[in-house]
Amino acid sequence: MTASPLDDFATVLQRCGIDLTALQGSDIAVRSPIDGTELARLAALPAAHMPAVIGRSDQAFRQWRLTPAPVRGELVRLWGEELRRAKADIGHVVSREVGKIVQEGLGEVQEAVDICEFALGLSRQLHGKTIVSERPGHRIMEQYHPLGPVAVITAFNFPSAVFAWNAAIALVCGNPVIFKPSEKAPLSGLATFKALERAIAQFTAPFGDRAPAGLAQIVLGGGDVAEALVDSPQIALVSATGSSRMGRAVGPRVAARFGKRILELGGNNAMIVTPAADLDMAVRAIVFSAVGTAGQRCTTLRRLIVHRDVKPALLDKLLKAYASLRIGDPLQPGTLVGPLIDEAAFNAMQHALAQARQQGGTVLAGGRRVLAEPFPQGFYVEPAIVDMPAQTAIVRQETFAPLLYVLSYEELEQAIAWNNDVPQGLSSCIFSNDLREVETFLSAAGSDCGMANVNIGPSGAEIGGAFGGEKETGGDRESGSDAWKQYMRRTTNTINYSRELPLAQGIRFG
Ligand code: NAD
Repeated sequence: MTASPLDDFATVLQRCGIDLTALQGSDIAVRSPIDGTELARLAALPAAHMPAVIGRSDQAFRQWRLTPAPVRGELVRLWGEELRRAKADIGHVVSREVGKIVQEGLGEVQEAVDICEFALGLSRQLHGKTIVSERPGHRIMEQYHPLGPVAVITAFNFPSAVFAWNAAIALVCGNPVIFKPSEKAPLSGLATFKALERAIAQFTAPFGDRAPAGLAQIVLGGGDVAEALVDSPQIALVSATGSSRMGRAVGPRVAARFGKRILELGGNNAMIVTPAADLDMAVRAIVFSAVGTAGQRCTTLRRLIVHRDVKPALLDKLLKAYASLRIGDPLQPGTLVGPLIDEAAFNAMQHALAQARQQGGTVLAGGRRVLAEPFPQGFYVEPAIVDMPAQTAIVRQETFAPLLYVLSYEELEQAIAWNNDVPQGLSSCIFSNDLREVETFLSAAGSDCGMANVNIGPSGAEIGGAFGGEKETGGDRESGSDAWKQYMRRTTNTINYSRELPLAQGIRFG
């Protein structure tokens, strides 16, 4: 295996606007999962500084909320341009820092560009309704107003796009943002944030105003920094992406102060393959969604629920496809599966495999560590397929690794019941060309997930739709559609233009 062309990483960071010397410290060791090399050692912000950070955000809010929304849109337009210009560099940082293959690193930055464009259009469409009144000479309308400072806490596996999903929408909605990236991937977060800073520096409103100081801030750190955001009554919305364990800690704390939150948590996504499926298409979708990003997407396919009549043919094709997967350095052309984020992720996968065996499972493929020789500090695994006799306890858990469980069903009702019988509810899909099966899966008695797809895998969502899931996935939505409403406060205004004062519901008073 040839060495990665990684030597110029410092130059890439410089081009992204990251000055490592200014950030140096001993708190956060950033390692590349490719080979375990230490990429940076960064200082965490002491939690004692957080009130000042939050105070600046609150000050910025007072100005930004008065900037017209279409003018705010100009800022995200500039951000999108900066991201486009820096796409190759930020994509490279993502690949180095979290081990995504080049195409996926670039795709992640493209997603950030896409959401800026979506948010630009949205900046002219923050519409409320006009509602007919039951009273003569009255009119009712809704307005959406800016909410206040928004904290964005992100997971390691989408270190660039998830910040952009939240920040682009929050900014056009009139809110400042404070970004706390994952301590496992702060450089990708910084690179994305620096592009926003460059956009802010260029931004001038038509009436001459600049963006307020403190409109966008980044804070590096761990639990104490995040908790300061979670607990502050000045943070109007906490948008937190990560494990359900994190959500279980964050959700009640935000609720205790009656704050708003968007929780985007773990997934345990299934595909149902029926006898009416195009099996070749299904195999391609399974491979991408089960092994892409080395199984470390929240929407990764983790459970394959296949009809017993097509199971042998499907598994035959699938095992052949798995046998030809190129595992290795994600920066090398042709690699399809990069490393796991760290040793703990590898150990969690091994633990899950052992549990699956104990619970009656048979490992059909993969599961072993590979490339330990060139990369003793890199954790590469063969993606695993495990045939399970039933949906046992381990199958119902999210293991953040390329580990696909296979279950076989006889009746569609059973398959849908299994699809739903897990604590998480993020994404799901069915492969079938039978209209009755498809519509049943999409119906009120079908998949209970936030996303239910047909003839396409569970991962790889577009930004235009609302993204998120039910149950332990958090119940919230972000990104497209009307997810923007969560970043604003709604007011209902009743306007009386008559000379009378009639009461609603026909009430006579006095
Ligand atoms: P994680 O929960 O370990 O960390 C996520 C973020 O939360 C980090 O920034 C971390 O510092 C912060 N955090 C952790 N505990 C906290 C606490 N008690 N209070 C405040 N902040 C806290 O997750 P991870 O390992 O980085 O990411 C993988 C997980 O994220 C998987 O479960 C995956 O499914 C999920 N994920 C979900 C989505 C989604 O949109 N639903 C997207 C990406 C990842």
